[in-house]
Formats: sequence, structure tokens, C-alpha cells
Amino acid sequence: MLTKSELEFLNSQGLDASQVFDAKGRAPIEVKDEAKRLGKKIILGVPCAAAGHRLRTRYGHCAQCNPAHLGYQNRASVQGDVYIAVSPSLRWTKVGSTTNRDQRFAKLNFDAYGTAHDWKPVFWVTTEQSGKIELDVHRSLRRYSVEATYVKDGKPQVSRECFSCSAVVAMNAVVESIRRGRYRTSGQWMDQRYQWK
Ligand SMILES: [Zn+2]
Repeated sequence: MLTKSELEFLNSQGLDASQVFDAKGRAPIEVKDEAKRLGKKIILGVPCAAAGHRLRTRYGHCAQCNPAHLGYQNRASVQGDVYIAVSPSLRWTKVGSTTNRDQRFAKLNFDAYGTAHDWKPVFWVTTEQSGKIELDVHRSLRRYSVEATYVKDGKPQVSRECFSCSAVVAMNAVVESIRRGRYRTSGQWMDQRYQWK
């Protein structure tokens, strides 16, 4: 039986209870092959010494103390936010994904995508598979794609995240991708002051 915080941790890593193997007191090393065969990424084992966590990697590391040990997971599967930002000066829409929304939004204008400094977020949704959804939406908006250059670490970069379409078109593409993949979402926001049309 998993606790609420264990379930929340799994969710934050794009995993769920079906990926947990209960070691029932045995050491991770004894059960790791069996867990792997069953496709289980997490072993429910004896509590870790540091904090009493029970979720371990198949190598026996505490997954909760250091989620980086779950490094074999695809980054795209991690829960995060898919967001839409608009630049009124360019009339462009940007679709991105992030696992640190506040930091990402603070950096939008710092990076000056497409040389614009007026990017503002108008929509985000917290969802599993955020990286995958982002790529899916970029594909479906391809006909609106515009190449934006920006400077990162002193070097010019080309961004493929900008589109010459309205935010509504981009938002519909995000919603459609989530619906098609039946991904679970856990919150969303849209700027009510923005002229959605
Ligand atoms: Zn721990």
C-alpha cells in the first residue's frame, strides 16, 4: 500500500503505482531481475536511512532522496507544464514545456526569442508527458513555423518553438494532443485579460 506522498512522488516522475514492485522485505539486489522482467521501474523496499523513504531504484538507491538516480527514464515522460507565450510586437506564439515554470517565464524575455522582449505567458497546463506533448504540438503547428533566433550563453541559436498563429490555435493543438494521448493533467491557467480570438 503506497502512501499519498509516495503516489505524488511517482506522479512527479511520470510513473504510477503499476510500475512499483513490492520487494516484501527482500533486498533490491535479490528482486531487481524479477522487477525488470515485469517492467517495474521502482522497488518498494526497506526505508532509506536518510529520511525513511521506501521507493528505490532497481539498483537500490533511494529514488526519493535523489530522483536523478531514475536517469534511465525518458525526460519527456516527466510531469511538467506545457505553456503558450505571445509576443504582441511580432504577433508570434511560442509553445514550450518546462519543469520549472517560474524560472522559465522569468527567462523568456531575457533570452529575447526572435529579438522580441515582450513575450508574455498566456496559458499553461500541468500534465504528464509534457515534453512529448510539446513536440507533438510543434509538429501539428508546423505550417505556421517561424524561425526565431536568440542568444544563449553568448551564441546565436535558432528556436523552432515559435509560430505565426494565434494563441487560440496553439491552445487547441495542446488540448487536442492531451486528449489524443489521454494524458492526465493536474492544473491549468489561462490569462483572462488576454484577447482570446
Ligand atoms: Zn530517501
